[in-house]
Amino acid sequence: MIPLAAKFQSRPEGRSFVARLTNDKSLPSPLCDDEILVSRGDEPAPSGSYQGLIRIAGAAHSEEELILGDEFSYLDDGDIVRINEFAGELRVLYRKGSYHNVLFFTERCNSRCLMCSQPPRDVDDEYLIDDILEAIPLMSQDTKVLCITGGEPTILGWRLIEVLTAVSRYLPDSSLHMLSNGRAFAYRATAKAVSQAGCRDLMIGVPLYADIASVHNFVVQARDAFDQTIRGMMNLARFNIALEIRFVIHRQTVSRLVQTAKFIARNLPFASQVAFMGLETIGFTRSNLSVLWIDPWEYRDALREAVTMLAAAGMRVMVYNLPLCLIPEEIWPFAQQSISDWKNIYMPECAGCAMKAQCAGFFASASFKYSDHIRPFDTVSQLPSFSII
Ligand code: SF4
Repeated sequence: MIPLAAKFQSRPEGRSFVARLTNDKSLPSPLCDDEILVSRGDEPAPSGSYQGLIRIAGAAHSEEELILGDEFSYLDDGDIVRINEFAGELRVLYRKGSYHNVLFFTERCNSRCLMCSQPPRDVDDEYLIDDILEAIPLMSQDTKVLCITGGEPTILGWRLIEVLTAVSRYLPDSSLHMLSNGRAFAYRATAKAVSQAGCRDLMIGVPLYADIASVHNFVVQARDAFDQTIRGMMNLARFNIALEIRFVIHRQTVSRLVQTAKFIARNLPFASQVAFMGLETIGFTRSNLSVLWIDPWEYRDALREAVTMLAAAGMRVMVYNLPLCLIPEEIWPFAQQSISDWKNIYMPECAGCAMKAQCAGFFASASFKYSDHIRPFDTVSQLPSFSII
């Protein structure tokens, strides 16, 4: 696991700012004005008008230096942080070398999904968008992908469009993957506004928990959510926005797994991809674990049927968050290493497993509860190719 936040001694007269990190100790002014210089260990104290000074795994050389432990040694040139000196907080907003950069939009949401990993809070957190808008121009042009998540990003209304427009302007070659419950796209105007923000490569991941309204609405804990989500998916297609349909597998959805795959193939074939996802045991999932938990080993045959049926229908299919030893080998080609690097772990049972490098592993939260069927492989198997017979 990689820590993305740190506490330090607060400074009552301190500032709050977003800045990029640099390792370059000889940056001339004004180039160093917007950068935070990172020193390590006992390196000499620099001079210059840097925005701030961070020292990793060393003793302070001056009062201005902010000291971080060795666990932050991964921080590097081009990464972006927000520092709130008054509160004594540092948050890592962006890592230049990572494929798992997340733009966390808001804690607010109009749904209350039983297994929400980020339980919604009705708080005024628009400062998060301000931070994101400050960070985007500092990000590397080589950024491959950014993920927008929350809460529900569409709750931000025009501020969402502001961020999409900033990405299209400053990072025109980056892909954007936005997670949304899709309900706001039931309004054509929302889908139209997103489509006009100018993002070259935007995909929106929308969960569908069943092929029938009663199950989906129960999981989402919102009346009419199923109708709104399906209408939303139709409007995304209407405005040529790529759609990923996400099905999270747990005790409340598993009985509709195969039927939902059929429903998607028949009614939503325009989706760019369909993802079947293992459960993350954090947030609401922990409090609702007794009604949600099912060992993935128990649904492996249903998962195989759903995946192979959709693939045979010509759809792009993904399996997220499920270890290789819990799913049938036939669907290994669809399994993705989907868990963000900063929260990805392997269990003690995985020691010596020959397939570890290809396996998604676990969320860090899974130490709390995971399958009884984790079995290491003795030899490396080639991932079989999938063919339609
Ligand atoms: S035992 Fe191997 S296949 Fe199973 S979860 Fe661990 S690394 Fe993955």
